[in-house]
Amino acid sequence: MCYRSGTMPPTSAPSRVNLYDLPRAALGELLSTWGYSAHYRDLLWTALYRQQVASFDELQGVKPELVSVLRERARLERPATHHEAFSTDGFTRKLLLRMQDGQTVETVLMRFKGRATVCLSTQAGCAMGCVFCATGQMGFVRHLSPGEIIGQVLHVTRLLRETNESLRNVVLMGMGEPLHNYEGTLAAVDILVDALGLALGPRFITLSTVGVVPGIRRLADEDRPVQLAVSLHGATDAERGALVPAARKWPLAELMDACRYYTDKRKRRIFYEWALIAGQNDTPEQAHALGQLLRGMDAHVNLIPLNPTVGYAERPSGPDAVRGFQDILAGYGLPSTVRQRRGIDIDAGCGQLKAAVERVRPVRVAAVP
Ligand code: SAH
Ligand code: SF4
Repeated sequence: MCYRSGTMPPTSAPSRVNLYDLPRAALGELLSTWGYSAHYRDLLWTALYRQQVASFDELQGVKPELVSVLRERARLERPATHHEAFSTDGFTRKLLLRMQDGQTVETVLMRFKGRATVCLSTQAGCAMGCVFCATGQMGFVRHLSPGEIIGQVLHVTRLLRETNESLRNVVLMGMGEPLHNYEGTLAAVDILVDALGLALGPRFITLSTVGVVPGIRRLADEDRPVQLAVSLHGATDAERGALVPAARKWPLAELMDACRYYTDKRKRRIFYEWALIAGQNDTPEQAHALGQLLRGMDAHVNLIPLNPTVGYAERPSGPDAVRGFQDILAGYGLPSTVRQRRGIDIDAGCGQLKAAVERVRPVRVAAVP
């Protein structure tokens, strides 16, 4: 499936095209097949993403004839709220949003020091099966369309408007593996950064991947406007493979080659994520192995103490182990930051709210596609 210009989703009823699925170039192509110029494309685009109209009835300055064509052939479909939770720290609001087919995904809004950040899902479930992750424990359902990803953003920008705040950061770190849904995710990124619409800064969009090697290379070749984060969690194939089944498909040597290719080509630093699990991957040996793996690279390590999940019995590392781990990395010249997951009291880890609300039972995922 391709959402970039050149390929059009079907437009006839009953499958009227969801306009949120289309980057501006693709919207322009669709309108031109209906006989409307780029002027109407931009008029419609600003209505969708600047005024953020919720229905075709709210369109202003658009010919009534085009409005009736849109009503007939297109739709503006946004997800609905299924469940909401607020953290006691007051910074985090977690939403479980329901898609048209009933699938629910998580979106997290974090407001901190005037900088609003949204964490978006890119898939319903995930095929990668990381043992500690609530989404991985559910298994894969389907990819989200660009419009379903953008719908999450429009949901939170509406909430932020109530308090005159605006969205600054987008992290693709919710449910799912963004590079397994490359087309859908990157079409959504094109919509996010479009200067006539939401106009997010490319520096403020972070895409986190479990290490899908072909996707990292493609990102490097296509020069897409995102910051890249790679989830490592283990610095040898044996240790990583025990936590991240995808590591068996893309071993560390291949992954690190792809990361070097990315940093050389794009001249951009990569962030490496490491969920610290007590007694598992927080030992001095693992810290040294990580230091050796990343030594000399343009890298920053984000250390995330494990968020406990129903399907995984291990515990987060304690403060001494975290400090010791950081000190060893510093000895290799590697900067690191400890990222406390906000909203831990509302199951704010990836996939945890859905698991809690819908009482999803963990499944074991056998294979990575
Ligand atoms: N699939 C992508 C992005 C979604 S997960 C990826 O894996 O990178 C976003 C981040 O949250 C990843 O670094 C992931 O390893 C981490 N994560 C998932 N479950 C976690 C948990 N229970 N505790 C700590 N970090 C977790
Ligand atoms: Fe999927 Fe990321 Fe969870 Fe692994 S950590 S199962 S890749 S969402």
